[in-house]
Amino acid sequence: PVPLSAHEEHIFRSRYPAVLVPENVTLPDFVFQDSELYADKVAFVEAVTGKAYTYGELVRETRRFAKALRSIGLRKGHVVIVVLPNVPEYGIVALGIMAAGGVYSGVNPAAHESEIKKQVQAANAKIIVTNDLSYGKVAGLELPVILLGEARIGSAMNWYELLDAADRATDKYAYEDVHQNDLCALPFSSGTTGMSKGVMLTHRNLVANLCSSLFSVGPEMVGQVTTLGLIPFFHIYGITGICFATLRNKGKVVVMSRFELRTFLNALITQEVTFAPIVPPIILALVKNPIVEEFDLSKLKLRAIMTAAAPLAPELLTAFENKFPGVQVQEAYGLTEHSCITLTHGDPNLEHGIAKKNSVGFILPNLEVKFIDPDTGRSLPKNTPGEICVRSQCVMQGYYNNKEETDRAIDKDGWLHTGDIGYIDDDGDIFIVDRIKELIKYKGFQVAPAEIEAILLTHPSVEDVAVVPLPDEEAGEIPAACVVMKKEARESEEDIINYVASNVAHYKKVRVVHFVDGIPKSPSGKIMRRLLKEKMIEKIKVN
Ligand code: AMP
Repeated sequence: PVPLSAHEEHIFRSRYPAVLVPENVTLPDFVFQDSELYADKVAFVEAVTGKAYTYGELVRETRRFAKALRSIGLRKGHVVIVVLPNVPEYGIVALGIMAAGGVYSGVNPAAHESEIKKQVQAANAKIIVTNDLSYGKVAGLELPVILLGEARIGSAMNWYELLDAADRATDKYAYEDVHQNDLCALPFSSGTTGMSKGVMLTHRNLVANLCSSLFSVGPEMVGQVTTLGLIPFFHIYGITGICFATLRNKGKVVVMSRFELRTFLNALITQEVTFAPIVPPIILALVKNPIVEEFDLSKLKLRAIMTAAAPLAPELLTAFENKFPGVQVQEAYGLTEHSCITLTHGDPNLEHGIAKKNSVGFILPNLEVKFIDPDTGRSLPKNTPGEICVRSQCVMQGYYNNKEETDRAIDKDGWLHTGDIGYIDDDGDIFIVDRIKELIKYKGFQVAPAEIEAILLTHPSVEDVAVVPLPDEEAGEIPAACVVMKKEARESEEDIINYVASNVAHYKKVRVVHFVDGIPKSPSGKIMRRLLKEKMIEKIKVN
């Protein structure tokens, strides 16, 4: 072998050939391509109510909604905040915003009022789309609000009235000149450090991600897949990995707004779901919960599940395979900053087969990946764990209004630094071994320690604080806080837990609080999170 010179890098690519990413196409045009051939086929169906939209209706309603948005003042680049659970209209809302030249920014409907306000302000949003259940959380924001469904509340615009009015409006609102390099989505992510930030994604970013991730779908699969739409659509995994990917291939999305095991299993059976993208806690329920025994699993049409957003324990994978023989488990790895999927397992019918068990998969076509030593920045050879860096057309444009964090995340050569540690083996399969970024993942949901620390510091009795992840069988990780209380403080650990809970969405609650004398910090003042986490795990073991 020829030794590497000081300037050569260990760069890895997909074992599959590059795929073509069409030029000059917007995301709505890309996913709606050939819709007229499937006009009567259902695109979205609500699992419980059965409310459905065909491809014909989806395209028509998306155009109407885009026109409506423009008629009420939306202009190119304006951000629209969407506070909705998974509903069958979600695709119309997101694609309508994009077709109108706007930028779609989803929020977890479980978010606290103050969290929604923060996102609205950080994104400089111009319009909000929500429903009657969340209206109370956005009513005070002094922005135009569109209410989905029949509801008429306060000054909010009713969905149907808005669309009807748009039909009567002048046609100058019907079209907007949208380009592939325009921003179309602004999902929020904390990245490797600090607070939640707007991730700027263009039409091109998302189209490129779909082209790479759908590389193995042959023409015989078009129109054939029924996908479960349970992963929240406000998250990149739900909107790109489920909605846009399924629409592109003219499949059907079975929409579920929340996870409840019986409803979930019923939907899988009655809607004949063939592909279910889920997260590890749901796999745990499928393996352990006795409710599963009430169902005749031989009726399942499920061919594959996808699991992503958080690590899957090897024992859990084995238990699932034993209980659901014949259902392929496709583990995948991705992140918001990379427009969604980055590494994945293939279809068993692929020429090079699927990636090895317990690997997160192989590199998707068109991507470059390297593994760097986090201390020196040097790229590492095969079989050597390092920080995963990725370079492709799917890499975000940067964090909205945040050059400093953008420069930290994407280096001058265009590599996105993921904050995850992994390695690639001799066959090109990648294994994740650790996460060095601050991010905590509770059931796949992002919890940014800096955000929870900022809230804790507003408590009058808290002097200093650090929030770290603790391992948890069901959730993967739970947020835990080490708190230095002021001398005169009288509050209990429980009081501190409740204080955070009253200010954040339920999944961001700190579930363990330890009072400590001091927070260990590096000479530069950075919290030594790893040390703290290890100390807390030790303490829990002792107790
Ligand atoms: P998000 O931007 O919310 O999708 O979070 C992305 C992060 O989730 C990644 O950087 C990883 O830390 C984690 N993640 C996603 N998929 C996996 C996976 N399959 N295994 C382990 N961690 C994962």
